[in-house]
Amino acid sequence: MSALPDRLPDPAPGLPDPLPDPAPGLPDGRLPGSSPAVIALRGASKTYRGGLTALDSADLTIRQGELLAIVGPSGSGKSTLLNLMGTLDRPSSGSVEVLGHDIARLSDRRLSAVRAHWIGFVFQQFFLSPHLSALDNVATGLLYQGVRHTRRRRQAAEALERVGLGHRLGHRPHELSGGERQRTAIARALVARPQIVLADEPTGALDSASGASVVQLLRELNAEGTTIAVITHDPQLAAGLPRRVRILDGRIREDSTTKAVA
Ligand code: ADP
Repeated sequence: MSALPDRLPDPAPGLPDPLPDPAPGLPDGRLPGSSPAVIALRGASKTYRGGLTALDSADLTIRQGELLAIVGPSGSGKSTLLNLMGTLDRPSSGSVEVLGHDIARLSDRRLSAVRAHWIGFVFQQFFLSPHLSALDNVATGLLYQGVRHTRRRRQAAEALERVGLGHRLGHRPHELSGGERQRTAIARALVARPQIVLADEPTGALDSASGASVVQLLRELNAEGTTIAVITHDPQLAAGLPRRVRILDGRIREDSTTKAVA
């Protein structure tokens, strides 16, 4: 028996399900000569209560299908940036658009719907429920979609297969290795088939071999079409990704792209 309820209320009854085309008006969702922007920050700043400006006039466009690292020392504003990109927070000034929606204009309920449909999150600490099996942990990624119990479990099993854990469906987090726990968390982020995955130090709690296999998994998912942004302060991890955005004292200082080798 699953501890998951069969159906949760729609978090945003005003929004159609599925959500409208994220890039309406663009033929096939494409811009001539380039992929559509999935996230666009324009002069985005975030000042916290008390007056600290953690992000200062950030301009950043992330296009469909990109895989990028966001790097910078502790306290430089990486999580603040991720929170804006993931619609977990709104900018104090400037704008943040996610799949064509200006997040400052959306109510909390609509932002929840945007997150549930389009964005998957992966965190350093996994945030798996210790009392649930891997399957039920992953199925929680569909709770806000109104997906029925049987389909939730079927999709969760498929997502776990995809990350190489088809043989661990019934295991609880304490019966999994660190790398397997992070793979479970990645499966949960993917189960709703998001357009964007935001990963905050996904290898930070892993040994180097498990970390490398998690990065490899993220690369494979990117190759299948998911746009992925990885916050890291591992220079080696960042150096291996096609694009690196460096942030220091709340400002984007560098944005470099490595050309693909044919
Ligand atoms: P990083 O992820 O690079 O470590 P953060 O975005 O977490 O950086 O933090 C940037 C700055 O903003 C830090 O000085 C931090 O103390 C501050 N900060 C982060 N969150 C809050 C908050 N909710 N309230 C006040 N200050 C915050």
